[in-house]
This record gives sequence, C-alpha cells and structure tokens, in this order.
Amino acid sequence: MSNITDAFTQPGTNRGLYYDGAFQKPETDAVISVTNPATAEGFTTVPDATATDVDAAVAAARAAFAGWSALDPIDRARHLRRFADVVGENIPKLAILESIVTGRALKEMNAQMARIPEWIEYFAGIAMGLEGESNIVKGGYVTMTHYEPLGPVALLTPWNHPVLILVKKMGAALAAGNTCVVKPSELAPVSPLVMAALATEAGLPDGVVNVVTGGPQTGAALCAHPDIHYIDLTGGTTTGRKVAAVAGERLVQTTMELGGKTPVLVCQDADLDGAIAGGLFSAFVASGQTCVSGARFIVHHDIYDAFVTGIAARADAITLGDPMADTTQIGPVISKASQDRCKRMIATAKADGAVQVAGASDPNLPAPFDQGFYIRPTVFKDVQPEQELFLEEVFGPVISITPFDTEEEALALANTGTFGLGVSIWSRDIARAHRLSLGIRGGVIWLNDHHRNDPRSVWGGVRDSGFGKENGWDALKAYMTKKSVIVRTAPGHDDWFAGSNRYG
Ligand code: NAD
Repeated sequence: MSNITDAFTQPGTNRGLYYDGAFQKPETDAVISVTNPATAEGFTTVPDATATDVDAAVAAARAAFAGWSALDPIDRARHLRRFADVVGENIPKLAILESIVTGRALKEMNAQMARIPEWIEYFAGIAMGLEGESNIVKGGYVTMTHYEPLGPVALLTPWNHPVLILVKKMGAALAAGNTCVVKPSELAPVSPLVMAALATEAGLPDGVVNVVTGGPQTGAALCAHPDIHYIDLTGGTTTGRKVAAVAGERLVQTTMELGGKTPVLVCQDADLDGAIAGGLFSAFVASGQTCVSGARFIVHHDIYDAFVTGIAARADAITLGDPMADTTQIGPVISKASQDRCKRMIATAKADGAVQVAGASDPNLPAPFDQGFYIRPTVFKDVQPEQELFLEEVFGPVISITPFDTEEEALALANTGTFGLGVSIWSRDIARAHRLSLGIRGGVIWLNDHHRNDPRSVWGGVRDSGFGKENGWDALKAYMTKKSVIVRTAPGHDDWFAGSNRYG
C-alpha cells in the first residue's frame, strides 16, 4: 500500500497539482472545497488550477510524449502492467477514499473497484497485438499502414466513478502511446491525483500522467490548449455540447460519453423475481447516479401490478446510512444541488399526476448523517411519456414505471426522448428479447441483466448520449491515427511531363 493513498484518505491533505512526476505548487492559493456528502462536512481542498497551471501540465505531457510514444508496445505494456499492480495493491484504500468523497457505500466500491486494474492490463495487452496491414496494389506499389499515437490528450472525467472512468480512458490513451492531462470533476478530484502519483511510483516516466484540478474553467483552458490533440469527456450533455464545440473549432477529435435516461423493459414472460431484483440493482445502486441507471421502467400490463408492488416494497426496504457501515446499502447523492434537484423532480412528478408508491418517508438518520444529502429510493407508477420524470435525467434514486400492451408500444415508449445510452430488456423469450433489442435506440443493451461492464464490452451512446466508444479495440484505435505509406516497387521512374501515361 502506498503512503500517498494513505495520506489522501486523511482530511485536509492538499499537496497541489500533479505533473511532471511530482506534486506541484499551483500559481495561486485558490482552492476548491471537497465535501463529504454523507455528512455535508468539508473533507479537503484541491487547487483551483489556472490557465498557467494548465499550460505547465500540458508542457510536461508534451515533453514526455517523445519518449513514451517511441517505446515499443511491449515495453510500454511492461510499464502499464506494473502500474496495474500498484493500483491493485492500493484498491482497498482507494475504495475508502472514493466512498468518503462520493458517498457511495464502501461495500459497493470494494466490489466495483476490485476490477479496476483489469482496464490497464487489458489495453496494455491489446496494444501489443495491434497490427497494421500491407497490400500489393495496382501499378507496382505496396501500401502499408502504421498506427501512431496522437500526442498529449485531455481526459475530462465526472464525479460518479472517479477511478473507473479514469482507467477506461487512461488505459487506452497510454497503451496507444499518448501522454495525458486529466481534469477530474471538481466534486471528486482526490483519487485521480492519487492515481497520478501511483503511476510515478510504478515507474511510469515523469509527465506521462498529469492531473490539473479545478472547475469548468480549468477544463475549458485544457480543451483550448493548442498542444492537446484529443479530448475525451464523460459528463453531462450540456457540457458535451460546449466541449464538442471547442473541439470542432480546433479540429480535434473527441469522445463524448454523456447523459442518459435508461429504459428497463419488463415483458410479460420475464422471470418476475429476477426482473424485480435486477430492476432494483439497475435503479438504486450508486444511489441512482450512473449514466445507465435504470430510470424509466416500461412494464407489460399483465405483470404491471405485481411488478410495481414488488419493486416498491423492495425499494422501501433499502438501508440508507453511513457509507462506511457494512449494513449500509446506499449512501447519499453527491451534493446539496443534486439533493435539491431530486426533491424538485419528485414534487413535479406528483404535480403531474404520477402516483408515488415508494420513498415517501424521511431518511431519518442519526447525526452527523442527518446533515447528509440523502434521498430515499423513490418509485412513481403511471408516469406518462410527456412528463418530466419520463424524459429528463434525475441522476438520483428516483424512477418511473409506465405500462405497455404491445411490443410496438414498448418500443415507442423506450425510444421517446433524446437520449440513447443504456437499455435493459427482461424476457425469457429469446426471440422477443432480440427483436426488442434491434428496435430500441441505445448504445449498450443488456438482456436479462444490467450495469455489466468489462474492458472488452464496447461502451458508448448515440444522439444526446454522445458519440465514440470506451472499452475494446474501438477505444484503443480512437487514440491513434492510421498512417498510410505507399512504396513504389515498379521499376525505373515515370515522367508525366515528358509524356509518361501512368497517372494514379
Ligand atoms: P459535468 O458535465 O458537470 O462534468 C464533467 C467534467 O467536465 C468535469 O470534470 C467538469 O469540471 C468538466 N467541465 C464542465 N464544463 C466544462 C467546460 N465548459 N469545458 C471543459 N470541461 C468542463 O458532469 P458530472 O456532473 O461530473 O457527471 C454527471 C454526468 O455525467 C451525468 O449526466 C451522467 O449521465 C454523465 N455520465 C456519463 C457516462 C457515460 O459513460 N456516458 C458515465 C458517467 C457519467
């Protein structure tokens, strides 16, 4: 276990920004406060990086690029496997840190984070197997393709999975031979700083992983920097539009992993207990704060009442509390603003005529958790497709249930709105489940499960949920450009202006 991880789990640890292989003093004393959402108490501060700080971090990434990109993929992979091992040794402490800063139950963080090193190992592995092509083509030529990295890249991450989303991006970016500057969310910036320090501890060259903390302004300075050659954002759709506009202006490629409003289709032939258990997991794990949280349940009339009664009872039985306690099943939402948004959307759903069937009681927690940003798992039935709760992302533990009769109706309901990210379909009829998966809009579809994620399972959305992919070969190749080299094998030379008739 690293001393760095230990130090950062203590309140008030602020060592500055991280670039060029060390913690660095920021240009100004301005800081951002990081709050423990379970108690609303301040946990620590991080620097609010200025454009000058961003410049220094990008300079470190630029200086490191020549050496890192020139390494043979086999040698880069060796570095990355060591990094994965060091991260693996630190997972228990990193999970505690994530739990303090995001409020997510420690039990949940331990389960999720056990697999974090796999993303680094996976990308290190497939990058070694990346092969260009060669073709013998007409007229006496051989064409060859080589993959090349892009340069220093910007990784903009959200607060809800600070380390998981970071390794999805960083694993691919580094294995491809790029160096990176990370701008983590201002709400959960601590573990990404630790990850950068662990990269140095694992022997990655200075400047390969750099982190600047701050808010949207710091992120904007990074995206605008002329030495940044790729922008990979996970965040809200509004942020995505702004960042994509900057990238468009600069002609820099991007990946946009944005918001969603995940439909959960429960068919008449579903295993009811399985669908209720899976639906509960889809909706309320992480207090409903994942981009693919089951949010709008579309349930066949034949089982509608049984499903509503079942999931409402199970939702009301979920234990809220101290995220560190073994008995706690879910923690708070991330912030007061998030708690207020949940409350406002609950009030609007009621005013719109939806019927609340779970979540009516107060969390009733003892001090200091009575000050935390808790929202009870909340279920509304009979929600209409034009209502806010059916259309807008809550990013909290509040779900809607709507009945359907025909498959056409189910698809029309699921495809309502502007998002296209996660979907789950619950049915024991394999033909029906496939049929529905073909007709539904989305980027990640689970049949009889939800939330499953693996370095090999390609991930990404369509329409307002963004574009580009995480995981798999697609993610690695997005961080590279394919260069074409055309070799003349025809004898002699041509002279077009002296009458040669070979052209093309
Ligand atoms: P956010 O959009 O507020 O912030 C994301 C990151 O972008 C942060 O680091 C933020 O500081 C930065 N940022 C904000 N404005 C910027 C600007 N103008 N220029 C540059 N950077 C800027 O998102 P959040 O609240 O941290 O995360 C929640 C959102 O992320 C939800 O909408 C959720 O659905 C989405 N999300 C999507 C996925 C996915 O895989 N599609 C995964 C997790 C979360």
